[in-house]
Amino acid sequence: MLPGLLDRPQAAATHGVRSASDCASVPYMATEVIYARVPKELKDAADEYARNRGATLTSTVVELLDRGLSAISDDRSVVALEKTVASLTADNARLDGELQGARVEVSALRNFTARSSRKIGSCPGCSGEISGYDLLAAGRCPKCERGLSSLLVPDKASANLDQRELLILVGALGALLGAAYLMSK
Ligand SMILES: [Zn+2]
Repeated sequence: MLPGLLDRPQAAATHGVRSASDCASVPYMATEVIYARVPKELKDAADEYARNRGATLTSTVVELLDRGLSAISDDRSVVALEKTVASLTADNARLDGELQGARVEVSALRNFTARSSRKIGSCPGCSGEISGYDLLAAGRCPKCERGLSSLLVPDKASANLDQRELLILVGALGALLGAAYLMSK
């Protein structure tokens, strides 16, 4: 007879491959027959494995086939899991990039805020100190409430403003605008 894990039914009885006890070992389960020609070495190995376990060749082949198919199914699960991990890693990298950009923006904002709180000149009305914030954001002297917009567009260079401080402040504002512009891209 040709070597095979499961022999043909008419030969099975004499070889005892499919016996009543084999069917009984897979209870409440509809069974089908697989005819498979396999290399002699594989048949011998399966025989030996079955013998060592004190099991029949059929129940051993059923178990090995089941374990093999489970392993393939597990492999697919692993592939799906790896895809999920790759996708999460990409998300993480994107969020990292966005966080980095936000940090740059906040840092520029902090620098600008620190710079804008420095004294930039004096009020033309009360001669009190005015900061970059008073000049550019509030637009009024914090003491006498006088409007300061005339300082920004003076008829002639105003002695009330430190031109150097003003230029540094405008530079800081430019850096802030630059960061905001890049973030909007
Ligand atoms: Zn004032």
